[in-house]
This record gives sequence, C-alpha cells and structure tokens, in this order.
Amino acid sequence: MIIDLRSDTVTRPTSGMLDAMMNAEVGDDVYKEDPTVNILEEKVAAMFGMDTALFFPSGTMANQAAIKLHTQPGEQLIADAYAHIYNYEGGGVSFNSGVSCKLIQGHRGMITADQVAVSINPPDFYHSPLTSLVCVENTANKGGGACYDFKEIKKIRNICTQNDLRFHLDGARLWNALVAKGENPKQYGEVFDTISVCLSKGLGAPMGSLLLGKQSIMNKAIRVRKLLGGGMRQIGYMAAAGLYAIDHHIDRLADDHKKAKEIGEALEGLSFVKNVAPIDTNIVIFTITGNEEDFIAKMAKKNIHFYGMGEGKLRFVTHLDYTATMHEYFLTILSSF
Ligand SMILES: *Cc1c(COP(=O)(O)O)cnc(C)c1O
Repeated sequence: MIIDLRSDTVTRPTSGMLDAMMNAEVGDDVYKEDPTVNILEEKVAAMFGMDTALFFPSGTMANQAAIKLHTQPGEQLIADAYAHIYNYEGGGVSFNSGVSCKLIQGHRGMITADQVAVSINPPDFYHSPLTSLVCVENTANKGGGACYDFKEIKKIRNICTQNDLRFHLDGARLWNALVAKGENPKQYGEVFDTISVCLSKGLGAPMGSLLLGKQSIMNKAIRVRKLLGGGMRQIGYMAAAGLYAIDHHIDRLADDHKKAKEIGEALEGLSFVKNVAPIDTNIVIFTITGNEEDFIAKMAKKNIHFYGMGEGKLRFVTHLDYTATMHEYFLTILSSF
C-alpha cells in the first residue's frame, strides 16, 4: 500500500469517471462543436451565475488568460506574496502579459481590503505602473488551504469598484472552500469579474480548468486561449470526466477535510512536532524540531510520501484516492513515531 499525500492532483479516474469518459459524445472543440465541452461550460457558468465559461487544459493557462484579459503591458496587479500566479506559474505574469506584481504580505495567503487599498498606485502618478487588477486565491494553497471570510472578499470588491480595478479569483480549490464554509457558488459569481476553477485537484479529473466571466470580458478569452496554445479538439472525453467530477466529487470533499483535521490532531500529540497550522480544508502544514529530510526519508521507507515546502514547512494533502484504510494505517504509523 502506497500512501501518496504529496498533492490532491495524484488521483486517478474512478471507474465511474472512466465510464463517463468512454461514453462521451465528442466533436471538434476548436469549432465549438464538442457537445460535452459545451454542456460542461454551460453547467459551470450557470452554477456560478456567470455569463459564460471556457474550458482550459490547465489552471495555469486559465489564470494566465484572465490576467491577459484584464491588463495591458506595463500595468501592475495586486496579489498575496504566496499567490500561485506569482510563485508557481513560471513567471507567466511577466512573460505572457508584461505585467508586474505588487505583493502583499497577507495572512495565510489571504489579503485584506485595507491592504489592497494602500497598494494601489495613484492613477495620475505616471512614474508608477498603473494598477489594473486584484487577484485573490481561495482556498489559498501555500497558505495551507485557508478559506477567505466572504465579507472580506466583498470589501475587496468594493475597493476594486471604487478604483476601477478588475477582480480575479484563482479558485483552483474553490470547491473545497464552498464545502468547508457551506457557501453558494453564486456568491462568488456576483463579486468577481473572472473566476478560474480546477477539475483536476480535489475533484479528481485527469485534467482541465474553466475560466468563468462576464460576457463582455470573455469575448476575447477564446482568442487568448488560442494564442497560449490551448485550443483542443475532441476534448469532450476530458470534459466528461469533469462533468462526472462535478456531479459526484464535490460533497465528498468534506471527507478529505475531516481526514486532514484528524491528521492535524495526531500531529499535535507528537513530541517532535513544533507547530501545526490551522486546518480549514484538505491541506496540513506543520513544522518539526528534527531534520525534515530525515523525516521525509523515514516515512518514504514506510511507503508514505509527501513534500517539504521550504522554510522548514512540511505538507500533507488529503484527496479522493486517500482511502479510509490508508488513513487508519497512516494514523497508526504517525502515533508510533
Ligand atoms: C494547482 C493550482 C493552479 C493551477 O495549476 P495547474 O497545475 O496548471 O492546473 C492554480 N492555482 C492554484 C492555487 C493551484 O493550487
């Protein structure tokens, strides 16, 4: 038995998902003739009460397209210093859009409206880059799967409206936040100009993200996706996996969250564990007193795999393929350390 807690992206399609994929009706999506992709795009747009959605091969491409849609070269966006768009998208913000990032030192990857307000460059001060976009991440990945208080998001929306800024949500794990907080996707559709959501994280599909947005903004999205090389043909097979995931794998995220909390409680009881970060969803971040590499190697010998995140932090991520049996075994191993 191999226990892989490196990420919630390591899952394999379930048999139900594979059946849905094999039975998908497909066509050429570059001509917008793939019926399954069209159903997926309409379904997710409707879930969030947004005008329209576009299927992307990856979350990175969906975020990068959004940034391109909202900005002009030379402008600046505001984001938390932990933001995925800044840290883990290969420098795409500058490469694809010629945009710089004003980074905010937030709390667990989350920023406040007050912090945003003081980070906006005065629009008539032409020496500074023009601020045109605010990006937030929910849940915040590097922040340990932290969930925003929706009231703060609404406050940031107001700051954006007052200052004529666009507002993008990197919602790769928004599903986890919706389940953890009992929120309605339509709340998010009301306040953001664009939202990206991933099908290949907690939802367990092999690939795919969607970018949702207002029609006036999204009109150009298909052109941007094309220039980023993201046009896809009979991709309905993958859209079918996404549809299956949305119908079957959202509510069960609560189970991943429960397991993560139980792992956190087990860690709290261990003498060599220095600190366990608060656990809102399916990500557990902790620090230990000893050598991290030794701990990772010892666990690997017991077929338990996970990553260090730098700065002495270690991370476990629970997911669809982390079963109850694995969980029981893992808790036993932990308590014997
Ligand atoms: C995974 C992730 C993405 C997108 O990643 P891809 O691997 O390109 O699909 C974007 N934002 C966050 C916060 C993520 O965790």
